[in-house]
Amino acid sequence: MAGFFANMSCDPFTPRNAQCIVGSYVAYVVNASGALEYRETLNFAKKHNIRLVIRNTGHDYMGKSTGAGALAIWTHNIKYKSIIDYTSLTYTGKAMKIGAGVSTSEAQSMANSNDLVIVQGDCPTVGIAGGYTQGGGSGPLASKFGLAADQVLEWEVVTGNGDFLTATPNNNPELYWALAGGGGGTYGVVLSMTVKLHPNMPTAGSALFFTEPTEAYWDIVQAFLLNLPDVLEAGGTIYWQVLPGNIFRMPQSYLPNGTAQDLEQLLQPTLKLLDQSGISYAFSSRDFPNFQDAFYEMVPETNVTEINLGGRLIPRYLLASEISAASLTSAIKSIINNGGILAGVSMDVSRPPSSSNAVHPGWRESAFLAFLGTIYNRYNMTSNVVNQRLVTNTLLPILEEITPGGAAYLNEADINQPNWHNVFYGANYPKLISIKKMFDPDDIFWGPTAVGSERWEVTEHGRLCMVS
Ligand SMILES: Cc1cc2nc3c(=O)[nH]c(=O)nc-3n(C[C@H](O)[C@H](O)[C@H](O)COP(=O)(O)OP(=O)(O)OC[C@H]3O[C@@H](n4cnc5c(N)ncnc54)[C@H](O)[C@@H]3O)c2cc1C
Repeated sequence: MAGFFANMSCDPFTPRNAQCIVGSYVAYVVNASGALEYRETLNFAKKHNIRLVIRNTGHDYMGKSTGAGALAIWTHNIKYKSIIDYTSLTYTGKAMKIGAGVSTSEAQSMANSNDLVIVQGDCPTVGIAGGYTQGGGSGPLASKFGLAADQVLEWEVVTGNGDFLTATPNNNPELYWALAGGGGGTYGVVLSMTVKLHPNMPTAGSALFFTEPTEAYWDIVQAFLLNLPDVLEAGGTIYWQVLPGNIFRMPQSYLPNGTAQDLEQLLQPTLKLLDQSGISYAFSSRDFPNFQDAFYEMVPETNVTEINLGGRLIPRYLLASEISAASLTSAIKSIINNGGILAGVSMDVSRPPSSSNAVHPGWRESAFLAFLGTIYNRYNMTSNVVNQRLVTNTLLPILEEITPGGAAYLNEADINQPNWHNVFYGANYPKLISIKKMFDPDDIFWGPTAVGSERWEVTEHGRLCMVS
């Protein structure tokens, strides 16, 4: 993953006889198994003035989990996990304690075997206790239970000071708050997190596909946008795509604790308009006995989804009237006409979490994460650089214009996002900076667009130098 940041070298797409160049990969890795290795690696990096990177799965789209010449703490093999009965002032119930290297699918599989469910994202191989939950964590169960960061009860962490701390809403509350949504690789190295589990439930899954060359296509897209709030308010989520050539795909929509019929009913405004317009379409809606079965059926294979990426959270108010939905539809059309593709990861996470966290407040008002960009070229880095510029200078501004002062998801966004402090962290930024100073005063943790990263710049051979 993250080919853009990994030099396009020694990957499965380069010719077999091509030279392997270490380039922007880290130079050495500590295969960590616990707090002792974490602390010793931090001390070593500080003593010898070496750049440090925390790396789990390497899925990060922002290039935070690699760095030329760096020493990495590799958390991937910290695989313990257990289901516990948890009691605190804010929560009593089943919980899972999860080691730093556990993947989404490993955690879900254990929950599912115990008739429980854990909040997860769309990718089974993402590290659930790593950048995913620490960055906020969206996913197919979010309308029902909230973001992944909203589920966190406890963190075990080695801070930049080298202290091994447990952070809960009442114990080291600043650290707890910052780790839940304030971005991975910034305040400390997480050893484990403990998160809420929920009773498993039957889950409906639907898919929709249509294509139509005429302008009628955009009428349906607009009707679909106006239809979204009904599905989200009912606890459903939808992942959909608008692709060049007037192709609309909704490969996944979920209704936890609902039936296939309920989900079909919720999507009626879109389906009815399709029927009336005579456009042919493929729609299916199915019942599954639990969430995991629905997920694997709806997402039969996971690919390396590299893209020259940009993102924006689209507020619910844009779906509240025909007029605003029309301006959103025309913005999406303009993105496609300018060479982009757009996916919508739709969920309603407006319910405040039981303990406050650092998730960008813009999430609470959003209807979907617009995940946009251009197709990644695995063989030609120059074309990726050009296409990333198109995202920054042309495609994203189209959405920014209709969402002034808006937000983006710090894990799925444009690496060159102007004004990223505000766009990724909003009003939380000053507080996050002060927490960063408290737990990592030497800035041992650094990543592009991470809190405090503006104090350093990457120079030749990957060394970090303090901005004077
Ligand atoms: C195919 C794909 C699908 C995705 N789908 C979703 C989705 O549905 N919802 C969603 O919210 N996101 C999604 N993401 C984004 C994902 O959440 C981020 O890429 C996330 O940063 C991955 O975290 P990781 O720990 O697995 O990866 P890494 O790249 O290893 O780490 C990411 C960041 O977290 C830090 N980090 C990792 N482990 C620790 C630790 N133990 N302590 C402190 N810092 C740590 C790293 O330093 C880095 O800054 C997706 C990404 C991909 C590639």
